[in-house]
Amino acid sequence: MGKLQLHWQILIAIVAALVLGSITGTDMALFGISFYGIYDFLGTLFLNALRMIIVPLIMSSIIVSIAKLGSGSDLGRLGGKTVLYYATTSTLAILVGLFFVNLMSPGILNGEPAGDALNLTVDSGELASAVAAVEGRGGSDIVNIFLRMVPTNIVNAAAQGEMLGLIFFSLVFGFFMSRIPEGPRETMLSFWTGVFETMMKITMWIMSFAPIGVFGLVAETVASTGFGAFEPLLKFFITVVAALSFHVFVTLPLMLKYLAKVNPFLHFQAMAPAILTAFSSASSSATLPLTIRCTKENAGVSDRVTSFCLPLGATINMDGTALYECVAAIFIAQAYGLDMTFGTQFTVVLIALLTSIGVAGIPAASLVAIAVILTAIGLPIEAIGLLLVTDRVLDMFRTSINIFSDSCGAVVIGKSEKETGILQAPAPA
Ligand code: ASP
Repeated sequence: MGKLQLHWQILIAIVAALVLGSITGTDMALFGISFYGIYDFLGTLFLNALRMIIVPLIMSSIIVSIAKLGSGSDLGRLGGKTVLYYATTSTLAILVGLFFVNLMSPGILNGEPAGDALNLTVDSGELASAVAAVEGRGGSDIVNIFLRMVPTNIVNAAAQGEMLGLIFFSLVFGFFMSRIPEGPRETMLSFWTGVFETMMKITMWIMSFAPIGVFGLVAETVASTGFGAFEPLLKFFITVVAALSFHVFVTLPLMLKYLAKVNPFLHFQAMAPAILTAFSSASSSATLPLTIRCTKENAGVSDRVTSFCLPLGATINMDGTALYECVAAIFIAQAYGLDMTFGTQFTVVLIALLTSIGVAGIPAASLVAIAVILTAIGLPIEAIGLLLVTDRVLDMFRTSINIFSDSCGAVVIGKSEKETGILQAPAPA
């Protein structure tokens, strides 16, 4: 208590990095130690820590959410409908993101990839081999993407950062774990829940060092490129906000209007307290109790549907996050000058969809998923450092959309179960 909140710490770190980075540049040193070297050390350490948690975090989170879903067999029909609805809206969100990022091309500056301005220095040999790796992995060939989903050796896949295979394996593992006899099933579930909760704690712990990591990464960028990085970053920010706005003000209201036949304005009004809480906390898990209350009391969805759809939605349905992952990964690919073949874009869409299931509802969780996508399309994950600059504010927006979409799901499913009383009258104040 009394400690400055993390996002303020990050903001101060960014300002300090801007000032120090521009003063020291790349050459200044003190007692023979270069400032640039220190920035690089801090930034790299932070990125390494993020990388370290990818495999166990994504794996345990997917296994636990799928296994829990599979075990309530009496809820089979409701479950099937809900998962289908959530997968549809997440896919729509990703497609909206894909459209906007291609339209606005934030990673392109004056017709050229913005990599230099952003200090994304991969030497051309490295990029060429990355591109070759993508092509070698069949980046342009959808059939090969599906072949990669089934790795011959799961340990190898994890070690090589072949996340698509790992995600697929985790989905299958979680599904069949829910189909074994009760004794071992419970043991497995509590083991994987334990792994997941431990990984969440480690993630939070690593994120508590974000101010130092952000400081190092931003100072490094400013020291070597000056303020040139900010134009593409601003464009990226605008692209994400525009795409998220489209999804929340056009796509989701259309679903509410045509699938649930309710007035979207009434639903916005009903959910306002939860939306604001999600905005300020940037955590859909932390907002869950309020999301449930607003959906039940203000929007009038039954206990049965809210208590099934919303906790599930808070784990597997993240429209804002999925959209953000897609825009961020393509932004970075554009900045590196990667040729965005159909296969590469398809890989991004598919992994954004799959990882949005596995992303935990805590602040900055998407960064781990973006690292997964970048690895899958053969790009270095250093560029994540840049995303950290705008991450917190965009996290606030995307989390609000995550929980709003969950609540829309509850309304649509509630209506499909012939519930009356959903959004019939103006919500109580
Ligand atoms: N903060 C998001 C949430 O809790 C996850 C993310 O996109 O980082 O929903």
